[in-house]
Amino acid sequence: MNRCALEAFLGGLVRLFTTVAGLRCFLNLSRGQQPQGDGLPEPTMTGLLTVGFVPTMGALHAGHLSLIQRARRENKLVVVSIFVNPLQFAPTEDLDRYPRMLERDRALCESAGVDVLFAPTVAEMGVIPPTPTRVQPPKSMISGLCGAFRPGHFEGVATIVTKLLNLVQPDRAYFGQKDAQQVAMIQQVVRDLNVPVEIVPCPIVRESTGLAMSSRNQYLSAEEKIQAATIYQSLSKAEQLFRSGERLSDTLVQAVKFELAKVPVLQPEYIELVDTKTLEPLETVTDEGLLALAVRLGNTRLIDNCVLRDRKPIIAIDGPAGAGKSTVARRVATELELFYLDTGAMYRALTWFVLQSGVDLNDEPSVAELASQCEIDFQTNTGAPLV
Ligand code: AMP
Repeated sequence: MNRCALEAFLGGLVRLFTTVAGLRCFLNLSRGQQPQGDGLPEPTMTGLLTVGFVPTMGALHAGHLSLIQRARRENKLVVVSIFVNPLQFAPTEDLDRYPRMLERDRALCESAGVDVLFAPTVAEMGVIPPTPTRVQPPKSMISGLCGAFRPGHFEGVATIVTKLLNLVQPDRAYFGQKDAQQVAMIQQVVRDLNVPVEIVPCPIVRESTGLAMSSRNQYLSAEEKIQAATIYQSLSKAEQLFRSGERLSDTLVQAVKFELAKVPVLQPEYIELVDTKTLEPLETVTDEGLLALAVRLGNTRLIDNCVLRDRKPIIAIDGPAGAGKSTVARRVATELELFYLDTGAMYRALTWFVLQSGVDLNDEPSVAELASQCEIDFQTNTGAPLV
């Protein structure tokens, strides 16, 4: 198949699949019939086309679209799933009234340049009784925050996300930082189960009022939306305190509580400051911490969070060879008083290491084994270790 034929095959129109068979067949054809060496962007290790995946429950909004746009930029093929996952809802929750609008979502996907929309039924996903095999994330990551109030929720998310990752087998999967506990948990599950995918966390998209976009915002009246804006304001207050030097979790959490209390209809379920990766509670924030909350407003449950970070930023600069990456990076580092890390030197160090080992350079698996065992230490020009 030449490039034009491939593009015609991929469409321009989003392909909707509701069955595993249809999805798998399309993905197999796309991967198998990918022409080689014709300048298509970024082949994977196996020379196949890159697939970006955005799992959702539908009722798409600008938050979802930001994930889709990023997937579109970074991959040849973009797959979006819409599945309102019954396993992640408790019997008392809003599974039945959760907004479902497939035709509208399909049109949105089409205009965002999505290639494949996978919208299976509950039966197709095999989650009807008897209870299917479940993925059990580490208890320490799901017993706090939302997990304390939604028993079974994260097992349900982990199970369906794992199934979807197995079905789509994407190179990258995109998740919103809005569900920070979910992202951290999925990253752990993927590590623990050796799922060959890169999890890409994406920033929270907000309304102009600061309210984090959510499909559940549709439940809110105009007045409630205004009231809900206080959630972000309360997080921002804690952020200000943090920037002015406050590091005690209790004080930062109290600042959020105090702001929320100004709008009594906002009933906090939890406000917690935890480690961004392990999600263990923090007493003080040293490097960074995740300040997360859930609030009830009438019958609606809203979540939001912010990352409090007390370290210098990491700025990555990429571009074609000879574009001046190192020159720019060195200047930026000097101006902003950051360490300049020459990643090119890391490749050279690795090359040296592999050459020293004497393995056949065409034996890629052996090179991969060596690379995974290679430790590289960086030192500053003064000889001090880079911390
Ligand atoms: P959902 O449809 O609610 O399951 O969300 C699907 C994906 O979109 C998840 O990875 C969410 O974290 C992400 N998402 C939802 N709302 C936002 C938002 N306001 N900003 C960024 N990502 C979001």
